[in-house]
Amino acid sequence: MFHFCRKIIRRATVDACCRPGGLPIRRRLTTCPTILLLFAATLAAEPADWIWSARYVITEDARHRVIENGAVAIRGERIVGVGTKAEIDARFQPKQRLDRPDAILAPGLINTHTHAAMSLFRGIADDLRLQDWLEKFIFPAEAKNVSAEFVRWGTRLGCLEMLLGGTTTFTDMYYFEDVVAEAAKEAGMRGVLGETIIGFPVADNKTPADALTFTERYLMRFRNDPLVVAAVAPHALYTNSDETLKASRALANKYNAPLIIHLSETKKENDDALKARKMTPTKVLDSLGVLTGRTVAAHCVWVNDADMAILKARGVGVAHCPSSNMKLASGVAPVVKMLAMGLAVGLGPDGPAGSNNDFNLFEEMDLAAKLQKVATGDPQALPATTALEMATIRGARVLGMEKEIGSLEPGKRADLILVRTDRPNAVPMYDPISQMVYALKADDVRDVMVNGKPVVRDSVIQTLNQGQILRKAAEYRAKISASLK
Ligand SMILES: [Zn+2]
Repeated sequence: MFHFCRKIIRRATVDACCRPGGLPIRRRLTTCPTILLLFAATLAAEPADWIWSARYVITEDARHRVIENGAVAIRGERIVGVGTKAEIDARFQPKQRLDRPDAILAPGLINTHTHAAMSLFRGIADDLRLQDWLEKFIFPAEAKNVSAEFVRWGTRLGCLEMLLGGTTTFTDMYYFEDVVAEAAKEAGMRGVLGETIIGFPVADNKTPADALTFTERYLMRFRNDPLVVAAVAPHALYTNSDETLKASRALANKYNAPLIIHLSETKKENDDALKARKMTPTKVLDSLGVLTGRTVAAHCVWVNDADMAILKARGVGVAHCPSSNMKLASGVAPVVKMLAMGLAVGLGPDGPAGSNNDFNLFEEMDLAAKLQKVATGDPQALPATTALEMATIRGARVLGMEKEIGSLEPGKRADLILVRTDRPNAVPMYDPISQMVYALKADDVRDVMVNGKPVVRDSVIQTLNQGQILRKAAEYRAKISASLK
């Protein structure tokens, strides 16, 4: 596909370029209408705020084009042109430009499941099963430490790491999600941000009823925000009553907001539901009407064929979290089957506190591809092309945002990354998609734009105070350690 596309693009360039020839311009104009049009366009070049160019542009558009010596033009918050550098330079007059002839230009990566503020608990307890990790370490540590300020600094730290590593959109569920939204906007990062609703007293709300009231205020406050999609996030089936789950769905639908939930993450969650209700967690949620509306279900490790058919029928997006599923020994999600059934499946690093420990979508792409190979015995089970789609356009579909983000196409939001390819781990390069998934690292991301605004330049964050955030993280480490003694 890559070579085929390159051929098309080269031909288009030859057709489109005004080549210097022996003919006087006037004669060329009168004899060739195509050249006349292009020449006129050059004279009256369209305004743009930015042109970003690179050796390869991976578009993730419907034709899966990879454009050699490509460029993207940006005006305001949106992409206005994608093509060869020659085409884009001829058509647009930019106010500023960034040319990286050694880089790959790709859509910003999309994280479909995480808990950004938990970055302050990074590595607090490792090598445990989910229930032990949650009940013995995370829930007690949260009870003693989580506050609005904790969430603000934790989210700043999370956004800093995510943006430097090429993630432009994150899907979050935590407490004080209004503060998460404020921190995300400060970072200049896009977010689908869900306020957690859970069946025991937590830092921001003492009861699920309080949490629902809090969430409604939050949904109203961030309606029509250019960066934040406010969401409702009942933690899971096993931490909420049926009434709370139903009320969460009703609230989400009232504001046309997404509902985010953990689903069938562990065998225990499934066994408990089967024992208590004689139904799988997916079947229970469906029977309660919880899946009737835009839903992002995280993990879905222990889903069977009937569950996947329900998820497909309800249009539920699945956030696959390979690092987390491996680290907590939760299992292997049947991602190949989900993809074959046409389910929208994206990638998420999950929490950084112990279920993964970082927010690195390059790592998730690599592991998603490799985990399915191990599980199926088939090296083609989940190829690099699919892994990169899961971190971009398929992730956008999970969030119901495929018309706005996930690919480089005119009309879409300008969420872009430039990834350097001049380091030892990046040379030589035969196929830029293979390089993105299997060789490049989050550290190789050099420039990041979100919503038309450069937020990382030459690997330096432009929107946050990195030094201050790192100092705060050290302060919180001391405070949290002391609280657990
Ligand atoms: Zn999670």
